[in-house]
Amino acid sequence: MSNRVAVVTGGSRGIGYATALALCKAGYDIVLASPAIEKNKEVAEAIRSCSGAARTVNLDLSRHESIKEAFETIYKTMRRVDILVNNAGITRDGLSMRMKPEDWDLVLRINLTGAFQAAQQVLPAMLKERWGRIINIASVVGETGNPGQTNYAASKAGLIGLTKALAQEVASRNITVNAITPGFIDTDMTAKLSDDVKQRMLAGIPMKRFGTPGDVAAAVKFLASEEAGYITGHVLKINGGMYM
Ligand code: NAD
Repeated sequence: MSNRVAVVTGGSRGIGYATALALCKAGYDIVLASPAIEKNKEVAEAIRSCSGAARTVNLDLSRHESIKEAFETIYKTMRRVDILVNNAGITRDGLSMRMKPEDWDLVLRINLTGAFQAAQQVLPAMLKERWGRIINIASVVGETGNPGQTNYAASKAGLIGLTKALAQEVASRNITVNAITPGFIDTDMTAKLSDDVKQRMLAGIPMKRFGTPGDVAAAVKFLASEEAGYITGHVLKINGGMYM
């Protein structure tokens, strides 16, 4: 059999990049699916040097047309998708009283609807193949809530619900669907927070450090593996103990 193919949305940086790298090192062929403006080509070059194949495809999860086109391209070039990592996500924070409708909509559209529609693209072939792994990167905030993030928390809580419902729909076909809920991970997404906020967050983390993209990537690699075949509908916390 040819190598299994893993698609990582938002694979151009942060957790997605670390995940793509870890999966590549584990022998999977990789597709990085991010918006055109990202440095997809350079990133693919870096991943390719680790061994397996790495390709890029332009994907804008806010548009259904783009999702359809991206997966058409992926199936044309790679022939198969065995693992989908729904990693891409954005924040548009603000207190509810002042949240703009477009900030609510965009976060829900990319983080939740986009992930669902990406899963819809890979399901028919996975069902036929009777093998598949869908791994959704949610967030601790989807479990606890967080002031100023109603849109983001709703999208991530929604992703957890989606994970459990879809897991039940496809379990009999040997497709597992799991969610990971990272706590505070050191990436571009969290770099914009003030030192004051970071210090306060650190105080609430029993392990007294922020997570690394590699901490999340290692868990994705495990959930994607053959060995994790009896784990489905699970929500895996990777948060240094900040929420148990
Ligand atoms: P990041 O901002 O570094 O990367 C986000 C990725 O999403 C980028 O590759 C970007 O290109 C992609 N993306 C953005 N808009 C997109 C769109 N319209 N279509 C396709 N791709 C798009 O963020 P990160 O910290 O690496 O986060 C990755 C995932 O982990 C996100 O879903 C995030 O919500 C989640 N998460 C992060 C943290 C954290 O502390 N960093 C904590 C919990 C959950």
